[in-house]
Amino acid sequence: MYLDKLRLDGKVAVVTGAARGIGLACAEALAESGAAVVITDLDAAAAAASAAAVSGRGYAASAEMLDVTDPRAVERVHGVVFARHGRVDILVNNAGIAISNRPAETMDDATWLKVIDVNLNGTFWCCRTFGRSMLEKGAGAIVNIGSMSGEIVNRPQAQAQYNASKAGVHQLTRSLAAEWAPRGVRVNAVAPTYIDTELNAYVYKDPEMYRHWVGGTPMNRLGKVEEVASVVLFLASEAASLMTGSIVLADGGYTCW
Ligand code: NAD
Repeated sequence: MYLDKLRLDGKVAVVTGAARGIGLACAEALAESGAAVVITDLDAAAAAASAAAVSGRGYAASAEMLDVTDPRAVERVHGVVFARHGRVDILVNNAGIAISNRPAETMDDATWLKVIDVNLNGTFWCCRTFGRSMLEKGAGAIVNIGSMSGEIVNRPQAQAQYNASKAGVHQLTRSLAAEWAPRGVRVNAVAPTYIDTELNAYVYKDPEMYRHWVGGTPMNRLGKVEEVASVVLFLASEAASLMTGSIVLADGGYTCW
């Protein structure tokens, strides 16, 4: 009875920024549980290659190019997914960028605007479009990838724009959850610690930074993409039927200290 609730057979899931990293792991987890996944990404070729790899393992996966900062493109992809599958049950808003080491007092306009545009605006455009059709059906689950940076201030790197964007994602999650809960659509977020992906591979060239990151984590290590994906799978599934508006930390204990 309990394990069955994690099954997603017959469901359709869209994941943004899913060509690699955490997004790809989320797509793999959802596909392994039975969902047909649509791997969307700014990088069309990488998305196609990742979808082919997931399909090659016997799961249902297709690819679609999507820049989440373009609200018209979000609507177009929504239409493509409906034409292909006739439904969307799960949306994972994972596409995100981090431009670190930008002290606030000298930050250029473009850096601030770009990070807010991808991380916060992009999440909203996707929630708005896909959420609308979930509301029409009276059912759906959205999982946003936030960050522990939405709850704490990272150190030593200065990244006010990233931290503010993720705090925005968390509050957007709670706001949409409250609006849509009576109409059957759940909205939750996962807030990971430092995960071992290309996004922050620069830490391996900076021993002092690595010492701060890992030394500040009670588990004394970086996280793995599949450790985020398993939380996403849970939140997207019926196993989390009472959860909405939750920001679930997957942080190795980082926020305990
Ligand atoms: P990554 O850089 O490995 O992958 C990000 C993917 O998003 C790439 O495939 C990229 O092409 C795509 N992308 C970038 N801009 C896009 C856009 N405008 N539209 C669509 N796709 C776009 O990153 P990751 O480490 O896997 O991070 C994924 C998410 O997790 C991000 O939202 C990030 O902020 C969040 N996160 C990451 C960490 C970490 O330590 N890696 C920690 C907390 C939260």
